[in-house]
Amino acid sequence: MSEKGMLIVLSGPSGVGKGTVRQAMVKKYGQQFKYSISMTTRKPRAREVNGSDYFFVTKDEFENEIANGGMLEYAQYVDNYYGTPLKYVNQMLDEGQDVLLEIEVNGAMQVRSKVSDGVFIFLAPPDLHSLQQRIEKRGTDDSATIQKRMIKAREEINLMTNYDYVVVNDKVDSAVQRIEQIIGSEHLRVARVLGSYQKMLGD
Ligand code: 5GP
Repeated sequence: MSEKGMLIVLSGPSGVGKGTVRQAMVKKYGQQFKYSISMTTRKPRAREVNGSDYFFVTKDEFENEIANGGMLEYAQYVDNYYGTPLKYVNQMLDEGQDVLLEIEVNGAMQVRSKVSDGVFIFLAPPDLHSLQQRIEKRGTDDSATIQKRMIKAREEINLMTNYDYVVVNDKVDSAVQRIEQIIGSEHLRVARVLGSYQKMLGD
């Protein structure tokens, strides 16, 4: 009923499982929204496909996009750039499609300052201990790095107050279900459907 699509931003601290929850969202509810594929300077991992997982670009290409105003937001994360190309997001929203972003917290704060009617969802760990366990399980960091990540995670959790919703990622399926409920409710907001009714009533 509303003409413009809704921008849904899924974010949260490093290690909370944003990628897993996003993949499950796309698998289960992928017809209901468009997932915005990010651009990154990180090298593709095994099985990652250019144009499907990310648009993999060089540092020069990324910096050109920034200079040309082509990014909705971007951040540097572990020595690489990550960002959301603006064109696709605008195009989909204009076509009335909802768009899902899965991005880290700095990027989410940039979107917050630009898109007043976006829906901002903070994916939170059940507790700090389980977050540390997840990071340890990845097996990619030494103990000093893990401690640094945990300090960062505490700072990131403090940013929760800038979001509209918090979803605890205790189980992926439950988190996905709660996100779907949030999206459903957001579509029923009077402010979102008012335009269509005003048109109908000839205002
Ligand atoms: P990974 O390298 O594991 O795929 O992603 C690293 C981090 O970058 C994750 O926290 C992910 O959410 C975040 N990320 C992925 N795409 C974007 C993006 O377009 N913008 C921002 N700001 N962060 C992103």
